Amino acid sequence: MGNMVGELEIYDVIIIGAGTAGLSAAVYAARASKRVLVLEETSYGGQIIYSPEVENYPGIGHVSGFQFATGLYEQAVGAGAEIRFEKADGIRILKEEKRYKIVFTDVNTYRTKTVIIATGSRSRRMGLDGEERLTGAGISYCATCDGAFFKGRTVAVYGGGNTALEEAVYLSGLCSKVYIIHRRNTFRAEQRMAEQLQQKNNIEYLMNCRVTAINGNEKLESLELSDGRVIESAALFVAIGREPQNDIYKDILTLDAYGYIIAGEDCRTSEEGIFAAGDCRTKQVRQLVTAASDGAVAALAAIVE
Ligand code: NDP
Repeated sequence: MGNMVGELEIYDVIIIGAGTAGLSAAVYAARASKRVLVLEETSYGGQIIYSPEVENYPGIGHVSGFQFATGLYEQAVGAGAEIRFEKADGIRILKEEKRYKIVFTDVNTYRTKTVIIATGSRSRRMGLDGEERLTGAGISYCATCDGAFFKGRTVAVYGGGNTALEEAVYLSGLCSKVYIIHRRNTFRAEQRMAEQLQQKNNIEYLMNCRVTAINGNEKLESLELSDGRVIESAALFVAIGREPQNDIYKDILTLDAYGYIIAGEDCRTSEEGIFAAGDCRTKQVRQLVTAASDGAVAALAAIVE
């Protein structure tokens, strides 16, 4: 292993994740003439590509999430960042060799001076039997992606935050009926979202309820609720928040109780030369603009390491 590692080329910065934080970091690091590699498991853009409209990014009045992400991707590539679609599997720190980092992916091994982790978060799973099997067959985590498959049908949304209510409003225009299932009797979402929902006449509220089972073989057929009810529904749009995916870093970095990488506004983690940017780190505000800001902060710190 030692010899093989010795033969690997050295990157200045490896960025894990090509969402807003990761690509912003890539723009800054590449513009500083550093050798930059971005690793992305799926497609570029991260969470924002699912937002049909972005209206709160300073200086940009109105843009779709996909347009925003594409612009940022092109900017990073144009600045000289290399982007590879590979899944990062872990990091090893070479204590004996200037604390270089080895980044393993599903297909390659890379050596780098610094790493910026910008892996964001993913939709929280319900943890129910059959959830994975029925994903894509009635269980969905994105109404704007999958809602059209259920045009004219009865569907359900699970959750009481802004995402859940936004999805319910969107689905009410497509589907014949929308159940909204929430574990408490008040919504966490902003009042204006709840008011928008109240104007719809095809919503049924199932408050103080949890989904306890999902039924169906080939596709979702019905939902069992904690109050004993069973409702028929062609789809369940799960919008119960988001969670980080930092398990592979837990042996080298300090995580908080929820699995976020502990890092302050300077994006520095417990390990020198490893930074955490965007939604994957501990922070108060998880917005597009704070993800972009973290990318800049982390990159400007990484390039002087
Ligand atoms: P939130 O964390 O705001 O809401 C998650 C919802 O799911 C809560 O109602 C919560 O219930 C419920 N929940 C959490 N865990 C479980 C569980 N295990 N079982 C059942 N229910 C559960 O997440 P969102 O994705 O809605 O929003 C994330 C962030 O993005 C927020 O800051 C939000 O404001 C923002 N956002 C803003 C938008 C906008 O401005 N247009 C649009 C979408 C999101 P409880 O309320 O009881 O905790």
